Amino acid sequence: MTIADTTWGPDSDGNFVLPVCTACSSAIWPPIDRCESCSSTKWASRQVLADATLFSWVTVHHTDLPEFKSRVPYTVGILELIDTSARVYGLITAKPSTLSIGQKFSITTRGADHIWEPR
Ligand SMILES: [Zn+2]
Repeated sequence: MTIADTTWGPDSDGNFVLPVCTACSSAIWPPIDRCESCSSTKWASRQVLADATLFSWVTVHHTDLPEFKSRVPYTVGILELIDTSARVYGLITAKPSTLSIGQKFSITTRGADHIWEPR
């Protein structure tokens, strides 16, 4: 298995799974061939807390993607995982007018969707 094949995202226990460097414990995210912190090529999938802070967000009002047309407007956020500082993206259910940089979020799973909700 290559690091690009790694499963990532929330698990059923509410934790987040990411590839992590086995030499220095830095998250290797997005998945690339070596650790950006120490250049090690050794990694393992590891659970990290699914708690994050909001780094940025955008609200989409128009899309050409058929699978998202019924969802507009929707908000996508970039969130920084507290455990690893890795930045991940996801759907946010809160109203954009209530969002602020650094706001705390946790992830939940609804069907195939990974949704970030304020804590
Ligand atoms: Zn490393």
